[in-house]
Amino acid sequence: MEKRISGKTGLLGLIGTPVDHSKSPVMYNYSFEKLDLDYAYLAFDITVEKVPDAIAAMKTFKMRGANVTMPCKSEVVKYMDELSPAARIIGAVNTIVNDNGKLTGHITDGVGFIRNLKEHGVEVKDKKVTIMGAGGAATAIQVQFALDGAREISIFNIKDAFYEKAEKTVENIKKEVPECVVSLYDLNDTERLNAEIASSDILVNGTLVGMHPNEEQTIIKDTSVFKKDLVVADVVYNPKKTKLMEDAEAVGCKTVGGLGMLLWQGAEAFKLYTELEMPVEEVQELYFK
Ligand code: NAD
Repeated sequence: MEKRISGKTGLLGLIGTPVDHSKSPVMYNYSFEKLDLDYAYLAFDITVEKVPDAIAAMKTFKMRGANVTMPCKSEVVKYMDELSPAARIIGAVNTIVNDNGKLTGHITDGVGFIRNLKEHGVEVKDKKVTIMGAGGAATAIQVQFALDGAREISIFNIKDAFYEKAEKTVENIKKEVPECVVSLYDLNDTERLNAEIASSDILVNGTLVGMHPNEEQTIIKDTSVFKKDLVVADVVYNPKKTKLMEDAEAVGCKTVGGLGMLLWQGAEAFKLYTELEMPVEEVQELYFK
């Protein structure tokens, strides 16, 4: 690394808190070195209150860009000069590109999720999808499904604070992508959930249920809802294979885990910064196995 850094090296980074566990610095620095790009990437621990300073510093240091993680994803929106369609609809940004002082905010979580599905041979156009969850990850996926031509989206969430967020998302999708049929239901309405899954091509867990240390948990208790041609995807990546996925695989469903979404959302951001493809296979082998 020290041989790579010069007086001309461009800076990129991650902002949010906590950031010390992030795979982004190793993933991007490896890719810059591999493609002989004169950039370096660091993680900056930034609270919401420090967002204005961080944005000013990005401009002062002429940083090429930054990834944004919790809790800063919504806060940075108001400092962007432009937003991608998905970032505008969702009201959150995970990738900032700095073009000579003009900041454009993107959100690559949904794009990454759908790219990962494609890598597993799953197309989303004209499909019906049931998505459990309405937090950050689930909302990004819901909006991207609509933008990418899904026929119907059924959203389920428990009646917590995220339910209201889901009502907003439904409104936004109806306004921005009127041809997509989108509905919201209470996750505790098991009968309705089972009926929507029965008529879906893809089922997504977009909640944190099943995440370490609660690996034994799954929302779907009645595994008779899994039919062979249903694709079951999870946003949870720790563990790599969730209980939901194990149960679905046991009856022959194709399953897709959350680690690929993490990888591909990073690869999409890399392309926005550099206009080049990240060496995904090697990055996956080194850091996402
Ligand atoms: P969030 O806090 O924004 O949303 C949490 C969601 O879980 C909400 O919909 C909430 O209603 C639901 N929920 C919480 N407890 C529940 C329960 N007991 N039963 C049913 N639903 C419940 O979280 P987030 O940032 O969207 O993250 C959700 C999961 O996705 C986490 O496991 C996170 O690690 C993972 N994630 C993965 C990626 C990726 O790239 N694969 C990216 C972001 C998040």
